[in-house]
Amino acid sequence: MSMTKSITNYMTQTKLTVAKFGGTSVANFQAMLRCANIIKNDPATRVVIVSASAGVTNHLVRLSQANVGQDEQQNIIEKIKVIQFNITENLDNEHWLNEQVDILLSELAEHAINQSEQHTAKTTDAILSYGEQISSLLFTEVLRSLGITSVCFDVRQVMKTNSVHGKAVVDIARLKSKAVELLVPKLATNVIVTQGFIGQDDLEQTTTLGRGGSDYSAALLAEALNADDLAIWTDVVGIFTTDPRITDQARAIKEISFGEAAEMATFGAKILHQSTLIPAMRQNIPVFVGSSKEPDKGGTRIQKKVESNPTYRSIALRREQTLLTIKSPEMLHSKGFLAKVFDILAKHDLSIDLITTSEISVALTFDNHASLTQSLITSAVIEELEQLCEVSVEYGLSLVAVIGNGLNVAKCISRKVFEKINGFNIRMICQGASTNNLCFLVPEADSNAVVKQLHSSLFD
Ligand code: ADP
Ligand code: ASP
Ligand code: MG
Repeated sequence: MSMTKSITNYMTQTKLTVAKFGGTSVANFQAMLRCANIIKNDPATRVVIVSASAGVTNHLVRLSQANVGQDEQQNIIEKIKVIQFNITENLDNEHWLNEQVDILLSELAEHAINQSEQHTAKTTDAILSYGEQISSLLFTEVLRSLGITSVCFDVRQVMKTNSVHGKAVVDIARLKSKAVELLVPKLATNVIVTQGFIGQDDLEQTTTLGRGGSDYSAALLAEALNADDLAIWTDVVGIFTTDPRITDQARAIKEISFGEAAEMATFGAKILHQSTLIPAMRQNIPVFVGSSKEPDKGGTRIQKKVESNPTYRSIALRREQTLLTIKSPEMLHSKGFLAKVFDILAKHDLSIDLITTSEISVALTFDNHASLTQSLITSAVIEELEQLCEVSVEYGLSLVAVIGNGLNVAKCISRKVFEKINGFNIRMICQGASTNNLCFLVPEADSNAVVKQLHSSLFD
């Protein structure tokens, strides 16, 4: 038994579930109350990660941008205040809570002023952190209003990261030791409420893990605390065969393997931040995804072993893809050409996602993780590549990923997948490397129609 496990079990002596509530789940007082009741009904849920109330992070993103005037700054802060005060007005200690929110909002206003004087990624992260700082404070009070003993814990004390603002990398070993030191002692007597999405670097500056990062924060905390379960409470009753906003034919999946769900997240299914399942898989922690609005409707269970492994499980769509094509006659029969290209890309911190090659050309797409601070393909990359080869960049594409099992060897795959979408312009196809996915690019304008057609072909 690991040290963490023995300490966790000793302190809690019960099962531990880490639960995460997303933006819509903490959007207003009624939504928060529903979540608080889920926690009340499940004594195992003792660590709770919250996102910012729906809409707040988007306001903060705007506030962090370079071209925001003073009036707009005030306007945005006022809008955030309205969202949060609509929650506090339902609580007994409204006056005290409003004072606390006001203190946080005046710190926010100071950061916004600094940002307009000198725009930095560091201040962007400081600004973005206020959504979670406020929602966690309010959610703790909602829990207390139901008689649940709870504390609001500043996750930055444990979520130690590097200094890559907007896409910070968490130091997992430090998170573990800090969690044992600071969280475990509180577990026996409190429900701990803390913030998703944010962390802190060695200089004690606030960092963020990328948009939608609260799912990942929750999984990291579940791993650090050696939890028995991770529950992701959101606005849909589980993981669907595709985004239910694209087609009403999408249906909830009862059970899915870690591998398949991780592929879905990687290929853009917004239901889970793309790194969420990595900590869960490392520690073999089953993950539940369900709706905080309809907790009785069940949800999706993600785990290592599942009963059925269908060829076609789901379809994910990732928008805003960039396709880079490089071409050079030098590639023909030459050695080391691609290594030079990859070197340049690595130097510019570009991580290759999909790749296809022919004799004298290579087409690549990139992992455009939800970073707020980096633009993907800069003129510096292009200039450097142009020393070696002809370069062209295409925007306005979407990546469609069919997720399933044995897709590298499945029979009739081209008929099943491509027959019904043969009227669409398909830009690049990648199949064969992974058993769990088959991917292709389509023009952004066609992407919803392609997913609808494909869904009816694979799942109807
Ligand atoms: P939260 O704020 O709770 O993190 P998100 O908006 O980030 O919620 O994610 C939930 C949304 O993900 C759903 O409302 C749905 O539109 C979208 N989504 C995308 N793909 C899927 C899928 N395969 N199954 C379910 N939902 C999906
Ligand atoms: N509030 C952050 C966002 O909107 C993180 C999250 O909700 O997961 O991206
Ligand atoms: Mg999300």
